[in-house]
Amino acid sequence: MSCKHDCGMHIWTDFYYIEIIDPVTGEVLPDGEIGELVFTTLRKEGAPLIRYRTHDLTRIIPGDCPCGSEYPRIDEIFGRSDDMVKIKGVCVFPGQVDSLLADVPFASSEFRLVVDRKDGRDTCGLEVEILPGADPGAAAAAIASEFRKKTGISAVVRVSEIGSLPRSEGKTKRVIDKREY
Ligand SMILES: [Zn+2]
Repeated sequence: MSCKHDCGMHIWTDFYYIEIIDPVTGEVLPDGEIGELVFTTLRKEGAPLIRYRTHDLTRIIPGDCPCGSEYPRIDEIFGRSDDMVKIKGVCVFPGQVDSLLADVPFASSEFRLVVDRKDGRDTCGLEVEILPGADPGAAAAAIASEFRKKTGISAVVRVSEIGSLPRSEGKTKRVIDKREY
């Protein structure tokens, strides 16, 4: 549960052993990195779970909580690992793009992430609808910079006006992976 400092959720690790893994490789990730939450129950006798994959994406918040509790904390749930895409070795998920766009003035929440592979290297294109009155060049530059800051990946950003991205059932299909495996 969250403590009075409201900075993540403390996990009772005497009851649950938690790990954050790379949902693609299964590798355990260091504290601070976002991945899939996996837990093992330590005291349940009736229905114990061993390395149960939740498919929820979060991270272990590094460092101590100001409340002084030694129980580790996890961050909010950023999304589902099923929606995640791995670009240039980095896990990116739609909820993360949603939240970084919310920090860019004039960017709307409608976007499409297009991943492809060229000459053996991943390429990343980000198409975003921007609000009326925005300067397209400035908006694209601000989005590219925020995306790079939050994910560590460079994306080619293309902006368009509201309503221009194709929608299915009222919502844009947000990740398009054209890579062949
Ligand atoms: Zn605390």
